[in-house]
Amino acid sequence: MTSAPVAIARPAARLEEQHLADDFLKVRGLQKHYAQGTIKVLNGLDLTMTSTDRLVVIGPSGGGKSTLLRCIMGLEDIAAGTVDVDGDLYISRDGSSTQIDRRIQKQIGMVFQSYTLFPHLSVMRNLILAPVRSRKVPRGVAEDRAREIMRRFGLDGKLNAYPSELSGGQKQRVAVARALMLDPKLMLFDEVTSALDPELVSEVVAMIIELADAGMPMMIVTHDMWFAKRIATRIVFCAGGHIVEDAPPDEFFSNPRSQRVRDFINNVLHANTGPE
Ligand code: ADP
Ligand code: MG
Repeated sequence: MTSAPVAIARPAARLEEQHLADDFLKVRGLQKHYAQGTIKVLNGLDLTMTSTDRLVVIGPSGGGKSTLLRCIMGLEDIAAGTVDVDGDLYISRDGSSTQIDRRIQKQIGMVFQSYTLFPHLSVMRNLILAPVRSRKVPRGVAEDRAREIMRRFGLDGKLNAYPSELSGGQKQRVAVARALMLDPKLMLFDEVTSALDPELVSEVVAMIIELADAGMPMMIVTHDMWFAKRIATRIVFCAGGHIVEDAPPDEFFSNPRSQRVRDFINNVLHANTGPE
């Protein structure tokens, strides 16, 4: 097992190598059921993402957004369909079981809504745990990488802190940093600002925007329409386990094709504005 490279910025050459820009991530006919098939959450979902896309997923609660991300993260058994990454089959259904290529799974990072840091470990130990334990990266190499990432995001003063000593925004930024420790080539963000006090949202958003500007492909589930507009190359609307609409942000907000999306946008924008 080789150690993860220390460099964080994606070298231009590596992006160019991903010449299969049209099908960096390809989801086909994805079905996900719970309770022995009685609850059908994803119903043959299709989605394609290029290596330069930042795909924002929005939609009503219960529409299957988190389930979609969890499936792509390789955390769920699926009922049918395939997921390809960079032209290689990553997830499929083989007879009665789900096949997941763990080599590809390791290249994907995910951050969830609620903080998932280990409370009894310092920030440094939170960061190096997976690289050292699971990837067999030498401890010194992992620590150097942790310092580099934390410096990059203005968090280096917090390496020896414990999660309880951090603000919610700092905890969530450390959770993003922890995902970056494993050098992902795709990041999945599931409502990472939803549990934060409003004044702490911007620091987490800024970190994700910086990553996006450095060329990190990402899928982002959010209800924050400002964030969605700012960061998306494409916005998809996921409801009833399907992609209902898929468009560039301008078109999505100014001229949505379906009434469903129009209603949703009106409701969300109204809710964000608050009572007059
Ligand atoms: P979203 O993130 O868009 O709000 P989810 O993917 O969390 O939607 O959920 C989609 C649907 O799947 C919901 O109806 C939810 O109740 C159901 N669901 C999610 N997880 C489970 C589970 N472990 N068991 C049963 N139903 C689930
Ligand atoms: Mg969700």
